Amino acid sequence: MKKIYLVISFLTFTLITTAQTSQKIYDIIDAVSAERIEKDIQKLVDFGTRNTFSDTISETRGIGAARRWIKSEFEAISSDCKNCLDVTYQKDFVTKEGNKRVPHDAWIVNVVAIQKGTKYPNRYIIMSGDIDSRGSDTMEFTKDAPGANDNASGMAGTIEAARVLSKYKFENSIVYVGLSGEEQGLFGGSGLAKYAKAQGWDIIGILNNDMIGNIKGVDGVIDNRTFRIFSEPVPANETERERTLRRFYGGEVDGISRQLARYVHKTVKTYMPEMNPMMVYRLDRFGRGGHHRPFNDLGFAGIRIMEAHENYVQQHQDIREENGIKYGDVIEHVNFEYAKKLTTVNAINMANLAWAPPAPKTVAIGGIVEPSVKFKWDKVEGAIGYKIYWRDTTSPTWDNSRYVGDVSEFMLDGIVIDNYFFGIASVGKDGFESPVVFPNKIIR
Ligand SMILES: [Zn+2]
Repeated sequence: MKKIYLVISFLTFTLITTAQTSQKIYDIIDAVSAERIEKDIQKLVDFGTRNTFSDTISETRGIGAARRWIKSEFEAISSDCKNCLDVTYQKDFVTKEGNKRVPHDAWIVNVVAIQKGTKYPNRYIIMSGDIDSRGSDTMEFTKDAPGANDNASGMAGTIEAARVLSKYKFENSIVYVGLSGEEQGLFGGSGLAKYAKAQGWDIIGILNNDMIGNIKGVDGVIDNRTFRIFSEPVPANETERERTLRRFYGGEVDGISRQLARYVHKTVKTYMPEMNPMMVYRLDRFGRGGHHRPFNDLGFAGIRIMEAHENYVQQHQDIREENGIKYGDVIEHVNFEYAKKLTTVNAINMANLAWAPPAPKTVAIGGIVEPSVKFKWDKVEGAIGYKIYWRDTTSPTWDNSRYVGDVSEFMLDGIVIDNYFFGIASVGKDGFESPVVFPNKIIR
């Protein structure tokens, strides 16, 4: 009898220790297909140009044909999961007047597929790619502009993520979206962000994928494991009061988008240890833009996921040869295995977030001139417990953590408030965690 008892307790111990990772996430990793991504990039390239102002009538060429195909693809995925996706167009009108980079009035049409959450249907995690492409002159909308990497790669990744994740049920809603009008002024992203705000969506964050298929940089470096996660430091719409408080309580590098970036970094380190995620502490590349920005503008968390090594000879260029250099964003330069890896990065992060309970809204911190830091937070429905995270003030990642169970206050014995940054995450029944919340209230 005694022997059997020992075996059972060993098994229990094993189960508890492996509960840190989920088999479902490994299944998702295995399900993402480079072949399907390649096929979809080829299909998008075959529309000749997807310039936002190109033909909308043709069935074979231009942005109209491209968006109708993307919609039909989402609809096919939906019919394979008992109509688990709501597929619609979301559109806004832009005019030539008042817009320097708009050659003629046109509808900016996004294709939106929503997989409704079972428990928190109004909480949304969004993955975006872009429908549109451009050549050397963004105003020229008839010439070929294959946009294989920029951004058929992100669009194909978004469609593939929908194929894989639609096989599962999630507590939170997932949005898969193809955005348009990126190249002329981030029109599609601002349209959808405004729509989401008007609808009262509670947005967990947007993962904006823009160029996820190039592994050979203009500098000659070849790297199929590193990718970049861009995030702004603090919300663009913060108040003057928040800015003033930050001077005394910290938070310069702890805005909601940065926490989302850390979440992605940690998930990748846990489940895809062969990858090399590189957090970049800026909104986007130096002086350049992307479709997460209009979401950031309205105070939503959002990051840009993209390749680490860009090739400018193959970006925003008409197809041509000059002085022996071949220009153009053609499919020959896309690495489908790499696009698959970055698609997987999105899929596993959306699954983790969509299976996790909401983060606590209010997190209070105290311990000024005291030997130990203390916390108080609002309990969240659906959480089985909470985890306190902390790190050296110079560290980019949450290096220390302690699971404290289903309580709403805690003191970390002997940890001095001045010497670290702290945050709290909710933990759900399968171990899935919310993003970390930086304290937003002071205990006096
Ligand atoms: Zn571009």
